[in-house]
Amino acid sequence: MAVASLFWVLAVNGLFFGAALQGRALSSPATWAFAAGLAVLLFGVHFLLLALVANRWTVKPLVALLLVASAAAAWFMQAYGVYVDPMMLRSVLRTDVAEARELWSWGLLAHMALYAGLPLMLLWRVRIEPRPWRRAALRRGVALVLAGVGVVALLAAMFQPLASLMRNHREVRYLVTPANLLWSTGAVLARDARGAAQPRQPLGTDATLAADGNPRPRVLVMVVGETARTANWGLSGYARQTTPELSRLPVLDFPQVRSCGTDTETSLPCMFAPVGRRDHDEARIRGSESLLHLLARAGVDVHWRDNQSGCKGVCDGLPQDTVASLNPPGLCNGGRCLDEGLLAGLDEWLARVSGQGGTHVWVLHMLGNHGPSYFRRYPPAFARFQPACEDDELRNCSTEQIVNAYDNALLYTDHVLGSLVATLQAHAAQVDSAMLYVSDHGESLGEKGLYLHGMPYAIAPDEQTRVPMVTWWSDGMVSRTGLDLACLRQRAAEPAAHDHLFHTVLGLLDVRTEVLEPAWDLTAGCRTPRAAGMQAPARP
Ligand SMILES: [Zn+2]
Repeated sequence: MAVASLFWVLAVNGLFFGAALQGRALSSPATWAFAAGLAVLLFGVHFLLLALVANRWTVKPLVALLLVASAAAAWFMQAYGVYVDPMMLRSVLRTDVAEARELWSWGLLAHMALYAGLPLMLLWRVRIEPRPWRRAALRRGVALVLAGVGVVALLAAMFQPLASLMRNHREVRYLVTPANLLWSTGAVLARDARGAAQPRQPLGTDATLAADGNPRPRVLVMVVGETARTANWGLSGYARQTTPELSRLPVLDFPQVRSCGTDTETSLPCMFAPVGRRDHDEARIRGSESLLHLLARAGVDVHWRDNQSGCKGVCDGLPQDTVASLNPPGLCNGGRCLDEGLLAGLDEWLARVSGQGGTHVWVLHMLGNHGPSYFRRYPPAFARFQPACEDDELRNCSTEQIVNAYDNALLYTDHVLGSLVATLQAHAAQVDSAMLYVSDHGESLGEKGLYLHGMPYAIAPDEQTRVPMVTWWSDGMVSRTGLDLACLRQRAAEPAAHDHLFHTVLGLLDVRTEVLEPAWDLTAGCRTPRAAGMQAPARP
Protein backbone atom coordinates (compact mmCIF):
# COMPACT_ATOMS: atom_id res chain seq x y z
CA MET A 1 0.00 0.00 0.00
CA ALA A 2 2.80 2.37 0.92
CA VAL A 3 4.62 1.59 -2.31
CA ALA A 4 1.50 2.19 -4.38
CA SER A 5 0.84 5.49 -2.62
CA LEU A 6 4.42 6.59 -3.25
CA PHE A 7 4.18 5.55 -6.90
CA TRP A 8 1.06 7.63 -7.39
CA VAL A 9 2.56 10.68 -5.77
CA LEU A 10 5.57 10.55 -8.07
CA ALA A 11 4.14 9.15 -11.29
CA VAL A 12 0.69 10.54 -11.96
CA ASN A 13 0.60 13.88 -10.15
CA GLY A 14 2.91 15.95 -12.31
CA LEU A 15 0.03 18.21 -13.33
CA PHE A 16 -1.04 18.81 -9.75
CA PHE A 17 2.44 19.87 -8.71
CA GLY A 18 2.73 22.03 -11.80
CA ALA A 19 -0.53 23.81 -11.01
CA ALA A 20 0.08 24.06 -7.28
CA LEU A 21 3.54 25.55 -7.66
CA GLN A 22 2.58 27.91 -10.46
CA GLY A 23 3.94 31.39 -9.86
CA ARG A 24 6.49 30.31 -7.27
CA ALA A 25 10.19 30.81 -7.86
CA LEU A 26 11.89 27.46 -8.51
CA SER A 27 15.15 28.70 -6.97
CA SER A 28 13.57 29.55 -3.63
CA PRO A 29 13.97 26.97 -0.83
CA ALA A 30 10.43 27.78 0.32
CA THR A 31 9.08 26.41 -2.97
CA TRP A 32 10.93 23.14 -2.48
CA ALA A 33 9.77 22.87 1.11
CA PHE A 34 6.18 23.45 -0.02
CA ALA A 35 6.53 20.86 -2.79
CA ALA A 36 8.02 18.30 -0.40
CA GLY A 37 5.26 19.01 2.10
CA LEU A 38 2.63 18.53 -0.60
CA ALA A 39 4.23 15.26 -1.68
CA VAL A 40 4.24 13.86 1.86
CA LEU A 41 0.65 15.08 2.31
CA LEU A 42 -0.49 13.34 -0.88
CA PHE A 43 1.27 10.20 0.22
CA GLY A 44 -0.39 10.32 3.63
CA VAL A 45 -3.86 10.97 2.23
CA HIS A 46 -3.63 8.10 -0.25
CA PHE A 47 -2.20 5.74 2.32
CA LEU A 48 -4.97 6.65 4.73
CA LEU A 49 -7.70 6.17 2.13
CA LEU A 50 -6.30 2.80 1.11
CA ALA A 51 -5.76 1.59 4.65
CA LEU A 52 -9.36 2.42 5.52
CA VAL A 53 -10.90 0.31 2.77
CA ALA A 54 -8.33 -2.41 2.05
CA ASN A 55 -7.75 -5.69 3.84
CA ARG A 56 -5.77 -8.85 3.07
CA TRP A 57 -8.28 -9.99 0.44
CA THR A 58 -9.25 -6.70 -1.16
CA VAL A 59 -5.95 -4.86 -1.25
CA LYS A 60 -4.62 -6.40 -4.46
CA PRO A 61 -7.71 -5.99 -6.66
CA LEU A 62 -8.28 -2.52 -5.24
CA VAL A 63 -4.75 -1.31 -5.88
CA ALA A 64 -4.81 -2.94 -9.32
CA LEU A 65 -8.05 -1.19 -10.26
CA LEU A 66 -6.77 2.15 -9.02
CA LEU A 67 -3.48 1.71 -10.87
CA VAL A 68 -5.30 1.24 -14.16
CA ALA A 69 -7.82 4.01 -13.51
CA SER A 70 -5.26 6.56 -12.39
CA ALA A 71 -2.94 5.82 -15.30
CA ALA A 72 -5.83 6.43 -17.69
CA ALA A 73 -6.91 9.55 -15.82
CA ALA A 74 -3.35 10.93 -15.89
CA TRP A 75 -3.26 10.39 -19.63
CA PHE A 76 -6.44 12.34 -20.30
CA MET A 77 -5.54 15.11 -17.86
CA GLN A 78 -2.16 15.48 -19.57
CA ALA A 79 -3.36 15.14 -23.16
CA TYR A 80 -6.45 17.33 -23.00
CA GLY A 81 -6.16 19.45 -19.86
CA VAL A 82 -9.28 17.95 -18.27
CA TYR A 83 -10.00 17.81 -14.54
CA VAL A 84 -11.35 14.65 -12.89
CA ASP A 85 -14.21 16.17 -10.89
CA PRO A 86 -17.60 14.55 -10.17
CA MET A 87 -19.10 15.99 -13.38
CA MET A 88 -16.30 14.67 -15.55
CA LEU A 89 -16.56 11.27 -13.91
CA ARG A 90 -20.30 11.19 -14.47
CA SER A 91 -19.66 11.83 -18.16
CA VAL A 92 -17.14 8.99 -18.24
CA LEU A 93 -19.45 6.53 -16.48
CA ARG A 94 -22.30 7.36 -18.90
CA THR A 95 -20.14 7.14 -22.01
CA ASP A 96 -21.27 4.55 -24.52
CA VAL A 97 -19.06 2.08 -26.34
CA ALA A 98 -18.95 4.06 -29.58
CA GLU A 99 -17.70 7.11 -27.69
CA ALA A 100 -15.09 5.19 -25.73
CA ARG A 101 -13.72 3.48 -28.81
CA GLU A 102 -12.77 6.80 -30.37
CA LEU A 103 -10.66 7.73 -27.36
CA TRP A 104 -8.39 4.66 -27.64
CA SER A 105 -5.10 5.23 -29.33
CA TRP A 106 -1.59 3.81 -29.51
CA GLY A 107 -0.25 6.62 -27.37
CA LEU A 108 -2.73 5.77 -24.64
CA LEU A 109 -1.82 2.09 -24.94
CA ALA A 110 1.91 2.78 -24.50
CA HIS A 111 1.17 5.09 -21.57
CA MET A 112 -1.02 2.43 -19.95
CA ALA A 113 1.67 -0.23 -20.41
CA LEU A 114 4.23 1.96 -18.65
CA TYR A 115 2.13 3.46 -15.86
CA ALA A 116 -0.28 0.57 -15.19
CA GLY A 117 1.26 -2.55 -16.75
CA LEU A 118 4.64 -2.38 -15.02
CA PRO A 119 3.29 -1.62 -11.56
CA LEU A 120 0.68 -4.36 -12.03
CA MET A 121 3.45 -6.88 -12.67
CA LEU A 122 5.22 -5.76 -9.50
CA LEU A 123 1.94 -5.97 -7.61
CA TRP A 124 1.48 -9.51 -8.90
CA ARG A 125 4.74 -10.57 -7.27
CA VAL A 126 3.91 -9.12 -3.86
CA ARG A 127 3.07 -11.88 -1.39
CA ILE A 128 0.75 -10.96 1.40
CA GLU A 129 1.84 -12.71 4.58
CA PRO A 130 -1.07 -13.96 6.62
CA ARG A 131 -0.69 -12.72 10.20
CA PRO A 132 -2.67 -13.58 13.29
CA TRP A 133 -5.63 -11.20 13.19
CA ARG A 134 -4.80 -9.63 16.53
CA ARG A 135 -1.36 -8.52 15.36
CA ALA A 136 -2.71 -7.49 11.97
CA ALA A 137 -5.39 -5.35 13.55
CA LEU A 138 -2.83 -3.76 15.84
CA ARG A 139 -0.46 -2.96 12.99
CA ARG A 140 -3.28 -1.53 10.91
CA GLY A 141 -4.49 0.56 13.81
CA VAL A 142 -1.04 1.93 14.47
CA ALA A 143 -0.46 2.67 10.77
CA LEU A 144 -3.82 4.42 10.50
CA VAL A 145 -3.21 6.55 13.57
CA LEU A 146 0.32 7.44 12.46
CA ALA A 147 -0.84 8.39 8.96
CA GLY A 148 -3.79 10.32 10.38
CA VAL A 149 -1.64 12.24 12.85
CA GLY A 150 0.93 12.89 10.13
CA VAL A 151 -1.65 14.27 7.72
CA VAL A 152 -3.22 16.49 10.37
CA ALA A 153 0.18 17.78 11.54
CA LEU A 154 1.22 18.55 7.98
CA LEU A 155 -2.08 20.28 7.28
CA ALA A 156 -1.55 22.46 10.33
CA ALA A 157 2.06 23.24 9.43
CA MET A 158 1.20 24.07 5.83
CA PHE A 159 -2.12 25.71 6.54
CA GLN A 160 -1.21 29.14 5.26
CA PRO A 161 0.12 28.27 1.77
CA LEU A 162 -2.45 25.48 1.38
CA ALA A 163 -5.35 27.75 2.27
CA SER A 164 -4.27 30.34 -0.25
CA LEU A 165 -3.80 27.65 -2.88
CA MET A 166 -7.31 26.29 -2.27
CA ARG A 167 -8.81 29.78 -2.21
CA ASN A 168 -7.23 30.79 -5.51
CA HIS A 169 -7.26 27.46 -7.32
CA ARG A 170 -9.85 25.19 -5.73
CA GLU A 171 -9.88 23.09 -8.88
CA VAL A 172 -6.32 21.78 -8.38
CA ARG A 173 -7.69 19.29 -5.87
CA TYR A 174 -9.22 17.46 -8.83
CA LEU A 175 -5.73 16.92 -10.21
CA VAL A 176 -4.71 14.82 -7.18
CA THR A 177 -4.65 11.31 -8.60
CA PRO A 178 -6.10 8.79 -7.73
CA ALA A 179 -7.81 10.54 -4.81
CA ASN A 180 -9.81 12.51 -7.41
CA LEU A 181 -11.13 9.22 -8.82
CA LEU A 182 -12.13 7.87 -5.41
CA TRP A 183 -13.72 11.15 -4.36
CA SER A 184 -15.58 11.75 -7.63
CA THR A 185 -16.87 8.17 -7.84
CA GLY A 186 -18.15 8.44 -4.28
CA ALA A 187 -19.82 11.78 -4.99
CA VAL A 188 -21.55 10.50 -8.15
CA LEU A 189 -22.73 7.29 -6.49
CA ALA A 190 -24.04 9.17 -3.47
CA ARG A 191 -25.92 11.66 -5.65
CA ASP A 192 -27.39 8.96 -7.85
CA ALA A 193 -28.42 6.88 -4.85
CA ARG A 194 -30.23 9.87 -3.41
CA GLY A 195 -31.77 10.70 -6.81
CA ALA A 196 -32.92 7.15 -7.54
CA ALA A 197 -34.61 6.85 -4.19
CA GLN A 198 -37.33 9.35 -5.02
CA PRO A 199 -39.41 9.98 -8.15
CA ARG A 200 -38.94 13.22 -10.08
CA GLN A 201 -40.60 16.28 -8.62
CA PRO A 202 -43.50 17.37 -10.85
CA LEU A 203 -42.94 20.67 -12.65
CA GLY A 204 -45.66 23.13 -13.60
CA THR A 205 -48.66 20.92 -12.78
CA ASP A 206 -50.93 23.86 -13.65
CA ALA A 207 -49.63 24.13 -17.24
CA THR A 208 -52.20 24.53 -20.02
CA LEU A 209 -51.97 25.38 -23.70
CA ALA A 210 -53.82 28.59 -24.41
CA ALA A 211 -56.27 27.84 -27.20
CA ASP A 212 -55.85 30.33 -30.03
CA GLY A 213 -58.65 28.82 -32.07
CA ASN A 214 -56.27 28.19 -34.98
CA PRO A 215 -56.80 24.73 -36.53
CA ARG A 216 -53.38 24.68 -38.24
CA PRO A 217 -50.72 22.51 -36.61
CA ARG A 218 -47.82 24.18 -34.79
CA VAL A 219 -44.38 22.55 -34.87
CA LEU A 220 -41.28 23.58 -32.95
CA VAL A 221 -38.12 21.64 -33.76
CA MET A 222 -35.49 22.15 -31.07
CA VAL A 223 -32.03 21.05 -32.12
CA VAL A 224 -29.56 20.40 -29.32
CA GLY A 225 -26.11 20.91 -30.82
CA GLU A 226 -22.94 19.23 -29.62
CA THR A 227 -19.61 20.91 -28.85
CA ALA A 228 -20.19 23.78 -31.32
CA ARG A 229 -18.58 27.03 -30.14
CA THR A 230 -19.42 30.61 -31.01
CA ALA A 231 -15.78 31.44 -31.77
CA ASN A 232 -15.92 29.32 -34.96
CA TRP A 233 -19.53 30.03 -35.95
CA GLY A 234 -19.73 31.87 -39.28
CA LEU A 235 -23.04 33.61 -38.45
CA SER A 236 -21.55 35.01 -35.24
CA GLY A 237 -18.60 36.69 -36.95
CA TYR A 238 -15.94 33.98 -37.37
CA ALA A 239 -13.51 34.98 -40.10
CA ARG A 240 -14.26 31.74 -41.97
CA GLN A 241 -17.69 31.03 -43.43
CA THR A 242 -18.63 27.88 -41.51
CA THR A 243 -22.40 28.48 -41.90
CA PRO A 244 -22.90 29.11 -45.64
CA GLU A 245 -26.37 27.52 -45.88
CA LEU A 246 -27.86 29.18 -42.79
CA SER A 247 -26.52 32.58 -43.79
CA ARG A 248 -28.58 32.41 -47.02
CA LEU A 249 -31.76 31.87 -44.96
CA PRO A 250 -33.80 34.40 -42.99
CA VAL A 251 -32.50 33.09 -39.66
CA LEU A 252 -31.84 34.98 -36.44
CA ASP A 253 -28.45 34.37 -34.83
CA PHE A 254 -27.72 34.95 -31.12
CA PRO A 255 -23.95 35.58 -30.94
CA GLN A 256 -23.68 36.03 -27.15
CA VAL A 257 -25.09 32.87 -25.56
CA ARG A 258 -23.53 31.35 -22.45
CA SER A 259 -23.87 27.64 -21.82
CA CYS A 260 -25.02 26.18 -18.52
CA GLY A 261 -22.13 23.75 -18.18
CA THR A 262 -19.01 22.69 -20.00
CA ASP A 263 -20.11 19.10 -20.65
CA THR A 264 -23.21 17.35 -21.98
CA GLU A 265 -24.05 15.72 -18.63
CA THR A 266 -24.39 19.15 -17.01
CA SER A 267 -25.72 21.27 -19.85
CA LEU A 268 -28.39 19.02 -21.27
CA PRO A 269 -30.61 18.64 -18.16
CA CYS A 270 -29.96 22.30 -17.39
CA MET A 271 -31.18 23.49 -20.82
CA PHE A 272 -34.61 21.96 -20.10
CA ALA A 273 -34.87 23.25 -16.54
CA PRO A 274 -36.53 26.46 -15.28
CA VAL A 275 -33.43 27.53 -13.33
CA GLY A 276 -30.13 26.81 -15.01
CA ARG A 277 -26.76 28.43 -14.46
CA ARG A 278 -28.01 31.49 -12.55
CA ASP A 279 -28.69 29.44 -9.42
CA HIS A 280 -27.27 26.11 -10.45
CA ASP A 281 -28.38 23.13 -8.40
CA GLU A 282 -27.61 19.87 -10.10
CA ALA A 283 -29.53 17.77 -7.59
CA ARG A 284 -32.67 19.88 -8.01
CA ILE A 285 -32.46 19.73 -11.81
CA ARG A 286 -31.94 15.96 -11.86
CA GLY A 287 -34.63 15.41 -9.26
CA SER A 288 -37.26 17.34 -11.16
CA GLU A 289 -39.27 16.90 -14.34
CA SER A 290 -38.06 18.72 -17.46
CA LEU A 291 -39.59 21.22 -19.83
CA LEU A 292 -40.63 18.28 -22.02
CA HIS A 293 -42.59 16.59 -19.22
CA LEU A 294 -44.37 19.87 -18.56
CA LEU A 295 -45.21 20.34 -22.26
CA ALA A 296 -46.49 16.79 -22.56
CA ARG A 297 -48.78 17.33 -19.58
CA ALA A 298 -50.12 20.53 -21.14
CA GLY A 299 -51.12 18.51 -24.21
CA VAL A 300 -48.13 19.04 -26.52
CA ASP A 301 -47.05 16.08 -28.65
CA VAL A 302 -43.39 15.67 -27.57
CA HIS A 303 -40.77 13.51 -29.24
CA TRP A 304 -37.02 13.08 -28.63
CA ARG A 305 -34.76 11.79 -31.36
CA ASP A 306 -31.19 11.00 -30.34
CA ASN A 307 -28.00 10.69 -32.33
CA GLN A 308 -25.75 10.72 -29.29
CA SER A 309 -25.56 9.37 -25.76
CA GLY A 310 -29.21 9.78 -24.74
CA CYS A 311 -31.28 12.56 -23.22
CA LYS A 312 -29.81 12.38 -19.68
CA GLY A 313 -33.24 12.00 -18.07
CA VAL A 314 -34.81 14.95 -19.92
CA CYS A 315 -37.11 12.69 -21.99
CA ASP A 316 -37.64 9.83 -19.50
CA GLY A 317 -40.97 8.16 -20.17
CA LEU A 318 -41.70 10.25 -23.28
CA PRO A 319 -41.84 9.09 -26.93
CA GLN A 320 -38.31 8.78 -28.30
CA ASP A 321 -36.17 6.99 -30.86
CA THR A 322 -32.54 6.93 -31.95
CA VAL A 323 -31.01 7.42 -35.37
CA ALA A 324 -29.05 4.20 -34.92
CA SER A 325 -32.28 2.22 -34.48
CA LEU A 326 -33.83 3.88 -37.56
CA ASN A 327 -30.62 3.04 -39.46
CA PRO A 328 -31.24 5.36 -42.44
CA PRO A 329 -29.46 4.07 -45.56
CA GLY A 330 -25.88 5.22 -46.06
CA LEU A 331 -25.62 7.27 -42.87
CA CYS A 332 -24.68 4.78 -40.13
CA ASN A 333 -21.54 2.77 -39.55
CA GLY A 334 -20.70 0.73 -36.45
CA GLY A 335 -23.40 2.26 -34.25
CA ARG A 336 -22.42 5.84 -35.19
CA CYS A 337 -24.60 7.85 -37.56
CA LEU A 338 -24.16 11.14 -39.38
CA ASP A 339 -26.51 13.88 -38.16
CA GLU A 340 -28.55 13.95 -41.39
CA GLY A 341 -30.11 10.77 -40.02
CA LEU A 342 -31.96 12.98 -37.51
CA LEU A 343 -34.13 14.22 -40.39
CA ALA A 344 -35.13 10.73 -41.52
CA GLY A 345 -38.88 10.57 -42.09
CA LEU A 346 -39.41 14.21 -41.10
CA ASP A 347 -41.01 15.06 -44.43
CA GLU A 348 -43.60 12.26 -44.15
CA TRP A 349 -44.24 13.15 -40.54
CA LEU A 350 -44.94 16.81 -41.39
CA ALA A 351 -47.32 15.71 -44.15
CA ARG A 352 -49.18 13.54 -41.65
CA VAL A 353 -49.30 16.27 -39.01
CA SER A 354 -50.67 18.84 -41.46
CA GLY A 355 -54.04 17.12 -41.36
CA GLN A 356 -54.11 16.76 -37.57
CA GLY A 357 -53.60 20.18 -36.03
CA GLY A 358 -52.25 20.37 -32.52
CA THR A 359 -48.92 21.50 -31.08
CA HIS A 360 -45.80 19.41 -31.60
CA VAL A 361 -42.29 19.71 -30.17
CA TRP A 362 -39.55 17.59 -31.66
CA VAL A 363 -36.10 17.58 -30.12
CA LEU A 364 -33.17 16.45 -32.26
CA HIS A 365 -30.01 15.62 -30.29
CA MET A 366 -27.01 15.97 -32.57
CA LEU A 367 -23.63 14.31 -32.53
CA GLY A 368 -22.40 17.63 -33.92
CA ASN A 369 -18.73 18.32 -33.25
CA HIS A 370 -18.19 15.54 -30.75
CA GLY A 371 -14.43 15.19 -30.30
CA PRO A 372 -11.66 14.37 -30.44
CA SER A 373 -12.39 12.67 -33.80
CA TYR A 374 -13.98 15.68 -35.52
CA PHE A 375 -13.16 14.18 -38.91
CA ARG A 376 -15.61 11.32 -38.27
CA ARG A 377 -18.52 13.78 -37.92
CA TYR A 378 -18.89 14.73 -41.59
CA PRO A 379 -19.05 12.97 -44.99
CA PRO A 380 -16.21 13.60 -47.51
CA ALA A 381 -18.17 16.31 -49.34
CA PHE A 382 -17.72 18.58 -46.29
CA ALA A 383 -13.95 18.15 -45.92
CA ARG A 384 -13.54 21.60 -47.41
CA PHE A 385 -10.94 23.08 -45.06
CA GLN A 386 -7.63 21.27 -45.64
CA PRO A 387 -5.39 19.79 -44.38
CA ALA A 388 -7.75 18.37 -41.74
CA CYS A 389 -6.71 16.23 -38.78
CA GLU A 390 -7.71 12.65 -39.56
CA ASP A 391 -6.23 11.01 -36.48
CA ASP A 392 -8.19 9.94 -33.39
CA GLU A 393 -5.36 11.38 -31.33
CA LEU A 394 -5.17 15.16 -31.43
CA ARG A 395 -1.53 15.30 -30.40
CA ASN A 396 -0.57 13.81 -33.76
CA CYS A 397 -2.04 16.84 -35.54
CA SER A 398 -1.09 20.50 -35.84
CA THR A 399 -3.44 23.15 -34.48
CA GLU A 400 -4.28 24.14 -38.04
CA GLN A 401 -5.32 20.57 -38.90
CA ILE A 402 -7.42 20.29 -35.73
CA VAL A 403 -9.23 23.57 -36.43
CA ASN A 404 -9.82 22.55 -40.05
CA ALA A 405 -11.45 19.26 -39.02
CA TYR A 406 -13.52 21.07 -36.37
CA ASP A 407 -14.68 23.68 -38.90
CA ASN A 408 -15.59 20.99 -41.43
CA ALA A 409 -17.83 19.41 -38.80
CA LEU A 410 -19.49 22.82 -38.32
CA LEU A 411 -20.05 23.04 -42.09
CA TYR A 412 -21.92 19.78 -41.85
CA THR A 413 -24.02 20.96 -38.89
CA ASP A 414 -24.86 24.04 -40.98
CA HIS A 415 -25.97 21.73 -43.81
CA VAL A 416 -28.17 19.62 -41.51
CA LEU A 417 -29.84 22.76 -40.10
CA GLY A 418 -30.24 24.22 -43.58
CA SER A 419 -31.91 20.99 -44.77
CA LEU A 420 -34.18 21.03 -41.72
CA VAL A 421 -35.33 24.58 -42.45
CA ALA A 422 -35.89 23.68 -46.11
CA THR A 423 -38.08 20.73 -45.05
CA LEU A 424 -40.11 22.91 -42.66
CA GLN A 425 -40.41 25.61 -45.34
CA ALA A 426 -41.72 23.03 -47.83
CA HIS A 427 -44.67 22.38 -45.50
CA ALA A 428 -45.12 26.00 -44.40
CA ALA A 429 -48.37 26.38 -46.31
CA GLN A 430 -50.00 23.80 -44.03
CA VAL A 431 -47.83 23.76 -40.90
CA ASP A 432 -46.70 26.74 -38.79
CA SER A 433 -43.18 25.91 -37.73
CA ALA A 434 -40.05 27.17 -36.01
CA MET A 435 -36.51 25.88 -35.57
CA LEU A 436 -34.40 26.61 -32.51
CA TYR A 437 -30.81 25.41 -32.55
CA VAL A 438 -28.45 25.79 -29.61
CA SER A 439 -25.22 23.99 -28.74
CA ASP A 440 -24.72 22.36 -25.33
CA HIS A 441 -21.20 23.69 -24.65
CA GLY A 442 -18.12 24.80 -26.55
CA GLU A 443 -14.69 23.29 -27.06
CA SER A 444 -11.04 24.15 -26.58
CA LEU A 445 -8.89 23.63 -29.67
CA GLY A 446 -5.47 24.16 -28.13
CA GLU A 447 -5.95 27.68 -26.75
CA LYS A 448 -4.07 28.01 -23.42
CA GLY A 449 -2.88 24.43 -23.93
CA LEU A 450 -6.43 23.07 -23.48
CA TYR A 451 -8.34 20.61 -25.63
CA LEU A 452 -11.90 19.22 -25.61
CA HIS A 453 -14.18 20.51 -22.84
CA GLY A 454 -15.34 19.79 -19.30
CA MET A 455 -13.30 22.37 -17.36
CA PRO A 456 -14.86 23.36 -14.02
CA TYR A 457 -17.16 26.26 -14.97
CA ALA A 458 -15.46 28.84 -12.75
CA ILE A 459 -12.18 28.56 -14.63
CA ALA A 460 -13.52 27.44 -18.02
CA PRO A 461 -12.37 29.61 -20.93
CA ASP A 462 -14.92 31.36 -23.20
CA GLU A 463 -14.16 28.80 -25.91
CA GLN A 464 -15.96 26.21 -23.76
CA THR A 465 -18.87 28.35 -22.53
CA ARG A 466 -19.91 30.48 -25.55
CA VAL A 467 -22.29 28.57 -27.79
CA PRO A 468 -24.08 29.31 -31.06
CA MET A 469 -27.85 29.73 -31.08
CA VAL A 470 -29.98 30.20 -34.21
CA THR A 471 -33.73 30.47 -34.77
CA TRP A 472 -35.92 30.35 -37.86
CA TRP A 473 -39.66 31.00 -38.15
CA SER A 474 -42.16 30.27 -40.89
CA ASP A 475 -44.29 33.26 -41.90
CA GLY A 476 -47.33 31.54 -40.44
CA MET A 477 -45.56 31.10 -37.11
CA VAL A 478 -44.49 34.76 -37.04
CA SER A 479 -48.01 36.09 -37.55
CA ARG A 480 -49.54 33.48 -35.28
CA THR A 481 -47.28 34.36 -32.33
CA GLY A 482 -47.44 38.08 -33.09
CA LEU A 483 -43.66 38.11 -33.25
CA ASP A 484 -41.88 41.36 -34.12
CA LEU A 485 -38.73 40.07 -35.85
CA ALA A 486 -37.01 43.46 -35.91
CA CYS A 487 -37.47 43.72 -32.15
CA LEU A 488 -36.17 40.18 -31.64
CA ARG A 489 -33.18 40.93 -33.85
CA GLN A 490 -32.23 43.71 -31.43
CA ARG A 491 -32.68 41.42 -28.46
CA ALA A 492 -30.55 38.76 -30.16
CA ALA A 493 -27.54 41.06 -30.18
CA GLU A 494 -27.59 41.21 -26.38
CA PRO A 495 -26.25 38.55 -23.99
CA ALA A 496 -28.38 35.44 -23.49
CA ALA A 497 -27.95 32.04 -21.86
CA HIS A 498 -29.23 28.49 -21.69
CA ASP A 499 -31.32 29.84 -18.80
CA HIS A 500 -33.57 31.53 -21.35
CA LEU A 501 -34.55 28.35 -23.23
CA PHE A 502 -37.17 26.97 -20.84
CA HIS A 503 -39.14 30.22 -20.58
CA THR A 504 -38.72 31.20 -24.23
CA VAL A 505 -40.24 27.91 -25.41
CA LEU A 506 -43.15 28.24 -22.98
CA GLY A 507 -43.74 31.83 -24.10
CA LEU A 508 -43.62 30.96 -27.79
CA LEU A 509 -46.06 28.09 -27.51
CA ASP A 510 -48.30 30.20 -25.27
CA VAL A 511 -48.23 27.75 -22.37
CA ARG A 512 -49.82 29.21 -19.25
CA THR A 513 -48.14 28.14 -16.00
CA GLU A 514 -46.97 29.76 -12.80
CA VAL A 515 -43.40 28.52 -13.37
CA LEU A 516 -43.07 30.73 -16.47
CA GLU A 517 -40.89 33.76 -15.73
CA PRO A 518 -41.47 36.32 -18.52
CA ALA A 519 -38.19 38.05 -17.65
CA TRP A 520 -36.37 34.97 -18.99
CA ASP A 521 -38.47 34.71 -22.17
CA LEU A 522 -36.31 36.16 -24.97
CA THR A 523 -39.40 36.97 -27.04
CA ALA A 524 -41.49 38.43 -24.23
CA GLY A 525 -40.99 42.07 -25.20
CA CYS A 526 -41.27 41.28 -28.90
CA ARG A 527 -44.62 39.54 -29.10
CA THR A 528 -47.97 41.24 -29.44
CA PRO A 529 -50.19 39.60 -26.88
CA ARG A 530 -52.87 37.78 -28.82
CA ALA A 531 -55.65 39.43 -26.88
CA ALA A 532 -54.43 42.90 -27.84
CA GLY A 533 -56.31 42.91 -31.13
CA MET A 534 -59.59 42.41 -29.32
CA GLN A 535 -59.00 44.82 -26.49
CA ALA A 536 -57.45 47.79 -28.25
CA PRO A 537 -57.16 50.60 -25.71
CA ALA A 538 -59.89 53.14 -26.19
CA ARG A 539 -58.53 56.42 -27.49
CA PRO A 540 -59.79 59.56 -25.82
ZN1 LIG B 1 -21.77 17.85 -25.19
